[in-house]
Amino acid sequence: MQPMAVTASISPCSRSLSSNALSRGSNASKKTHPSALSLPHCSSISKMESICQGTIRKLSALCICASVADVVRETSVEKIQLLKGDTWSVHKFGGTCVGSSDRIRNVAEILQNDDSERKLVVVSAMSKVTDMMYNIIDKAQSRDDSYIPALDAVLEKHRLTALDLLQADDLAIFLSQLHHDLDNLKAMLRAIYIAGHATESFTDFVVGHGELWSAQILASLVRKNGTDCNWMDAREVLIVNPAGSDLVDPDYVESEKRLEKWFSQNPSRTIIATGFIASTPQNIPTTLKRDGSDFSAAIMGALFKARQVTIWTDVDGVYSADPRKVNEAVVLKTLSYQEAWEMSYFGANVLHPRTIIPVMQYEIPIVIRNIFNLAAPGTRICRSSINELEEGQRLESFVKGFATIDNLALVNVEGTGMAGVPGTASAIFGAVKDVGANVVMISQASSEHSVCFAVPEKEVRAVAKALESRFCQALDAGRLSQVAVIPNCSILAAVGQKMASTPGVSATLFNALAKANINVRAIAQGCSEYNITLVVKQEDCVRALRAVHSRFYLSRTTIAMGIIGPGLIGSTLLDQLRDQAAVLKEKFKIDLRVMGIIGSKTMLLSDTSIDLTKWRELQKEKGEVTDLEKFVQNVHGNHFIPNTVLVDCTSDSGIASHYCNWLRRGIHLITPNKKANSGPLNQYLKLRALQRKSYTHYFYEATVGAGLPIITTLQGLLETGDKILRIEGIFSGTLSFIFNNFIGTRAFSVVVVEAKKAGYTEPDPRDDLSGTDVARKVIILAREAGLKLELSDIPVQSLVPEPLRGCASAEEYLQQLPQHDHDMAKKRQDAEDEGEVLRYVGVVDVANKKGTVELRRYKKDHPFAQLSGSDNIIAFTTERYKQQPLIVRGPGAGAQVTAGGIFNDILRLASYLGAPS
Ligand code: ADP
Ligand code: ASP
Ligand code: MG
Repeated sequence: MQPMAVTASISPCSRSLSSNALSRGSNASKKTHPSALSLPHCSSISKMESICQGTIRKLSALCICASVADVVRETSVEKIQLLKGDTWSVHKFGGTCVGSSDRIRNVAEILQNDDSERKLVVVSAMSKVTDMMYNIIDKAQSRDDSYIPALDAVLEKHRLTALDLLQADDLAIFLSQLHHDLDNLKAMLRAIYIAGHATESFTDFVVGHGELWSAQILASLVRKNGTDCNWMDAREVLIVNPAGSDLVDPDYVESEKRLEKWFSQNPSRTIIATGFIASTPQNIPTTLKRDGSDFSAAIMGALFKARQVTIWTDVDGVYSADPRKVNEAVVLKTLSYQEAWEMSYFGANVLHPRTIIPVMQYEIPIVIRNIFNLAAPGTRICRSSINELEEGQRLESFVKGFATIDNLALVNVEGTGMAGVPGTASAIFGAVKDVGANVVMISQASSEHSVCFAVPEKEVRAVAKALESRFCQALDAGRLSQVAVIPNCSILAAVGQKMASTPGVSATLFNALAKANINVRAIAQGCSEYNITLVVKQEDCVRALRAVHSRFYLSRTTIAMGIIGPGLIGSTLLDQLRDQAAVLKEKFKIDLRVMGIIGSKTMLLSDTSIDLTKWRELQKEKGEVTDLEKFVQNVHGNHFIPNTVLVDCTSDSGIASHYCNWLRRGIHLITPNKKANSGPLNQYLKLRALQRKSYTHYFYEATVGAGLPIITTLQGLLETGDKILRIEGIFSGTLSFIFNNFIGTRAFSVVVVEAKKAGYTEPDPRDDLSGTDVARKVIILAREAGLKLELSDIPVQSLVPEPLRGCASAEEYLQQLPQHDHDMAKKRQDAEDEGEVLRYVGVVDVANKKGTVELRRYKKDHPFAQLSGSDNIIAFTTERYKQQPLIVRGPGAGAQVTAGGIFNDILRLASYLGAPS
């Protein structure tokens, strides 16, 4: 098939035609559309009329010229009948798909690989071009001269694209066309500039050029690649009637006639058609309104009775919510026509709302696919949703997705005088119609006391004024109390087949909103059963969307986490979480989201979750000044994640003092911080009581023996009814290391220095050697075992010699320590003489309700004497384990094992919350 569009445009007649900018026929069918050459509603603006008079005169002459040419052609072109049906498939490529020369190349390749027998391809303008054109009109209308450079930018964009894609004649033809178009647009815009106004038809004519250019470029490229094709200026075929503000209705009968005619003159197996643009029955150029190319594709699908309409865009399909607002939105495999319509009507702009209607009657499926991810199967929109059958009767399966519309206002007409008065609603909506406002949603309580409806914010003033004047008598008489306007509202719609009639769905929805503390201003639930619509304040809308989405789509074991203290242990934990997150999510449906990390000076917050692969960099870049309450509010206050846990990785008693408050707020707690459990007894008891009462979890395994299962072992024994008699153990990794290495003739001070160098001790080794830390562990275990002891009840044998306790620094202490070595050496020798070793232990003597921390001697064959490195060892002597104590042994210090212990508590929490094992 010869490239008819191109040949036509270089014939003398069509060249002169194209120079008037209004006759952009793709081919020889000009005669059939003589009025395609008419100017858009010029007559309505007298000023513009005079400006354009010259052009119109020229056009009439050209019209005759076109007619003559076409008559000649018609006799020579054999009529070829259009075979409709499923040999045709329709593809639509959105603006981003044809946004650059590389992308257009990619589109051509996709078309080449598509093995459909016949293809009708609908293209949008290159991305941003339609916006640029609207902007140019705005500028010209407001007499802003910068419309000229803006138009030049449009020219340049297309020129460069064509230079990159086309060659030789193809390029020359396109560029000449482009320049003609631009010259004419400049003349028109000049007219608009002078008039200071552009009619809708003028605007539609100007903004539709993006599609004309992209379709021609793609058609030339496809031909260059060896596929015969024709391009179609859809204004020659698609006939639509205006149907209210921003709406048009296709005239299928007329469009079909024109299509058949067009096809007979341009027969081809591949047709590249412009999206978005159409003509009125009077052949005045118009558009299908913003984002209308999807609609174009669907109308084409219906006209060709195509097998399928594939809409190519920049996302994997229709998501359960706008993926820009809800991170965890998922791609829906299928949607019914009704569901897709509801989703798009309520703001899912992946699909123009009117796209569904033309294809639905012929049951032509629509598939939404991602041009950037060909591996993704996309979303299939067809008669009934397969998912419904697949997913059975789960509550979740009734809700497919959520969508929102912003920038609305609610109007509430209220008054006791409305009840039982026939015609009130009609009067209200009659007044609204008179100002041309679009009512997005209506809600009326059955008491008829008030009628409430949502309109676009920009229309609300006119609506309110119209109502006040229409009802001024009723308002004066008090039959109507007010016409109230609530500005800054958004609609949130939940969409799903049979959803509204399924018990429990609405309750769950409203419950999620209540939990998120979101006030619902109005509700509408149509009898269609496909959606529940509610109005919220715009500032709450994204939060509301996330709250409801998470309730229906998130795993129950999604946990919002706040990490307090990203020091050595905290940061090791964050790294462990980073490495394990994917496995946990996939295998156990545990979705851990770190929503905040707070240090003593700075904190990092996120409202979805922090990327743990770069939290350190993010903290530097985006860290803000530490504010603990703001941090907690951020982690817990998001409300779209069902569970919150704070992980306190500090050893700070100030942080521990907040635990009660956090538990009371329903926040779970996990910590290696010993301060709360070893602090004042009454506070500890209060904390435990509160924790049980509030059904929150408080885990602190890493407070004793780092990652070793000591607390859980003890709790397990107690909960199963065993009786604890005695707990005895080496609880300090540091002191374990020191005494395991205090052998032979080595001096005690030398071993202490070695332990410090190896990083086993606190910066000041006296913090370990004083025994306080061990005492805290003893008190934690004692209390766990039911003893009501204070820290001060535990006698602690300090290993810091009395005279060195006052040393100002660790260095001074270490310097003087050798002077006291003989004391320790003697103790070791005395033990050695008896075949024993020294060990620093903590003891909980449950039977006698006592605890101690001291240096003890053990026989060399005792388990405590067998340790190495910094191992901890804990022996539980109980009723059941009386002859042989139950022993837990292993490394009980170090960042990795401590963080591992905390992590284990986090997973324990997840399983308590319902994660599968
Ligand atoms: P095109 O130019 O291809 O027509 P649009 O920008 O009109 O593309 O539509 C695609 C965009 O719609 C996506 O990039 C996405 O951000 C947005 N979108 C909004 N809601 C949804 C949803 N529920 N599912 C998928 N995409 C959505
Ligand atoms: N180009 C038009 C617009 O941006 C139509 C479309 O892309 O769907 O509105
Ligand atoms: Mg779109």
